[in-house]
Amino acid sequence: MQCPQCGAPVILDETQVIVQCEFCRTRNIIHTHPFPCYYMEPRQEQFNKLPVVYAPFWRFKGLEFSLGLKSPGYRIIDHSLLAVDTKGLPVSLGLRSQTQTLKFIKNGIPGSFLAPSISRNQMLKMISGSNGLKVHIGEILSLIFFPFYQDKEVLYDGLSGQILNVHPDDLVPDKKPMANPLEFTPSLCPNCGWDLLGETDSMVLYCLNCTSFWLIRNKKINKLEAKYFDSQAAADIFLPFWQMQVEFKTLKLYSYAQFMQIANLPKVPQASHESQIFYFFIPAFKITPKLFLRVGRQITAAQINTNEILKMPKTKFHPADLPLEEGFQAVFPFTKEIYANKLEITDILPLEKIKLKSYNIAYVPFRSLGNEYIQDELNISVQKNSLRFGRDL
Ligand SMILES: [Zn+2]
Ligand SMILES: [Zn+2]
Repeated sequence: MQCPQCGAPVILDETQVIVQCEFCRTRNIIHTHPFPCYYMEPRQEQFNKLPVVYAPFWRFKGLEFSLGLKSPGYRIIDHSLLAVDTKGLPVSLGLRSQTQTLKFIKNGIPGSFLAPSISRNQMLKMISGSNGLKVHIGEILSLIFFPFYQDKEVLYDGLSGQILNVHPDDLVPDKKPMANPLEFTPSLCPNCGWDLLGETDSMVLYCLNCTSFWLIRNKKINKLEAKYFDSQAAADIFLPFWQMQVEFKTLKLYSYAQFMQIANLPKVPQASHESQIFYFFIPAFKITPKLFLRVGRQITAAQINTNEILKMPKTKFHPADLPLEEGFQAVFPFTKEIYANKLEITDILPLEKIKLKSYNIAYVPFRSLGNEYIQDELNISVQKNSLRFGRDL
């Protein structure tokens, strides 16, 4: 894509939400809500004279949790799926969704575009199968338009030049590309105008000047309350968690006392536990599903005390690359994970409805030790390479 400030070419990773221009040194937040639309450029020179038609494919990359009777099952999904029901077109992009350079769709691209006829939900159902309640998290969902050359009687694959078993007349394109327009916001503190800091794949940015935190959400930079768990002096990294108070329609899970009962903790509830609000602590960063559940469960079970960040710490923040909405969607798998009576919760969840009552980001300090980060007080360890792996998810 091009830098919105100076027009210089910029190459982004799929996970990046900030355009950092090497040329003019500006940083801009890129909004692709509700999902980005890309295309691949055709590249068979011998067909240059032929009109190009683009067909849409859904791409989904993320974690899937199934909420059947066995404690939450999970897998990593990276799939693409044809978003129209025209017979003879490839049903998926295969590896090409990972190996080809994608460009953001904009007006003025020569060619015509098929509108998607398969919805996002239909796509998720097709990918995950229909058995049981499933939750998808940490997703990169995008629509990718793939090019075909349209001759009178023949349709060619725009990348390989292969002939397809589709008659060109079967493709009835819309004239205009269907695209969610890109919007940019300069990455500056709305409060004081200083540059906002944070990695280019982080949804949470911060201002060193006025100690404020900001969440990229709904095409805006929103003020975010940031807290931290200050348990150890020598921390090397802060891992971010969504600290959320959740309202359930039927389940009674508002206080620490209720949590102790649900989780069957071998502890005697005190009077103070009745009034202590229960919070979920869900990782605000991507890791493998198994670790995601384990670390979130450990911090949630500890119900750590968090304090407001009044002075910016020197410790580095791990990027919060899991959006708040995705964290909220993880409430079901976590409820299942902490609930002792799996049979009971399996019956409750399909009928349950939840509301987000309050949220903030909570940073938990970890110390580096060999290949791991360690939280001494809570007795939690996270492999460094699983954090690295997560940032590509
Ligand atoms: Zn620039
Ligand atoms: Zn500021």
